[in-house]
Amino acid sequence: MASEIYSRQELIIGKEAQKKLEKSKVCIVGVGGTGSAVAELLGRAGVSLTLIDRDIVEKSNLGRQILYSEKDIGNLKALSARKNILSANPVVKIEAVNDELNTENAEKLLGSDLIIDCTDNMAARFLINEVSLKKKIPWIYTGAIKNEGLVAIFSGMGNPCFRCMVPRVPKAGSLEICSTSGVLGPLPSVVGSITARKTIEILLEGPENGSLLKIGENFENLQIKGREWCDTCRKEFPILEGRENLNNSIQFCGAIVLKSDIPFSEAKKRIKKNSKIISSSNTVIVTEYKKSRIIILKSGKIIFRNLKTKKEANIIYSKLIGN
Ligand SMILES: [Zn+2]
Repeated sequence: MASEIYSRQELIIGKEAQKKLEKSKVCIVGVGGTGSAVAELLGRAGVSLTLIDRDIVEKSNLGRQILYSEKDIGNLKALSARKNILSANPVVKIEAVNDELNTENAEKLLGSDLIIDCTDNMAARFLINEVSLKKKIPWIYTGAIKNEGLVAIFSGMGNPCFRCMVPRVPKAGSLEICSTSGVLGPLPSVVGSITARKTIEILLEGPENGSLLKIGENFENLQIKGREWCDTCRKEFPILEGRENLNNSIQFCGAIVLKSDIPFSEAKKRIKKNSKIISSSNTVIVTEYKKSRIIILKSGKIIFRNLKTKKEANIIYSKLIGN
C-alpha cells in the first residue's frame, strides 16, 4: 500500500510518477546546509537516498543545517541525517556512508540515477563530474556562500560539463568557504529546496543540460556553454585514472587535517587505549580530546575540529595515536 505521506504529492504528479520516484536512487554528497534541505525533502518525497559525509555535527552548523539539533552534536552527519529523515518517513530507503568521497570509492558510491553535490569542496565536484560523464549519470552542482546561491544541472552526456565551466581545479584556500566568509542562515535551504524540486523533475522527465540558476536578490537563469577543447567531455578522466591529484585542492571547512600512515585498525586500537571512541564504523572513528573532536578516516586523513593550530593537532595526534 502506498504511504499516506505521499498523498498530496500524488495529486500533482500521479500514482505512476510517485512509484517511479520511489524506485529512483539519488546520491547526495555532503549533508551540511544545502544537503540537509535536499535530503530531508527528497526523503519525505519517497526517493531512495545514499548520503555521503565524512564529518560530524557541530554547534556552528545548527544556524542553517535544518536536519540537526543539539542532540546530534558530535555525531556523524550521515548517520544523524538518516535517523532524522526516517523519523519523518520510516518507509523510505536511506543508506548512510560515513566517509569522504575519493578516487578509490567514487565510482562505486555514486552509482545512482542522479548525483547531487552539496559539498563545499571543489575537488569533490571535479571528481563527481568525471564519474558523471564516465557512467552517464546526471548531476546537480550546488553552491551557497554569503548571500548568493548557485544550482547547475549537467546531464552526464557532456557539452557542457562542469569542467567546461571551471577548466582548472582551484587550489585550496583560493576560494571562499562558509567558515571564513559566512553564509546567510536561510540561503542553503533555498538552494536545497530548488535542488529538490529540480531533482524530482529530472527523475520524472530527464535532465536539461547546462542550465545555471543564480540566486541573489533576484533569480537569474543562465546557460553554460560547452568548451570546444574540454578533455573531460571527450571522455578523458585524469582524476579517476590517477593522473591528476586533487590533494592540494581539498578544502576542509574550519578544520585542521593531518595525514597518518598508521593502518586504520591499528589506529582504532590505539585510540581505544588512549581515549574514548564516540562513534565508529568500518570507514571512520570519532574521538575527542579536551575540546577538540577528532575524525579519523580509513584513508588516513585525520580531521581536527575546534583547534587553531597544526602544532596542537600534532600534539594530540602523538598522544592518541603516536608514530
Ligand atoms: Zn566539458
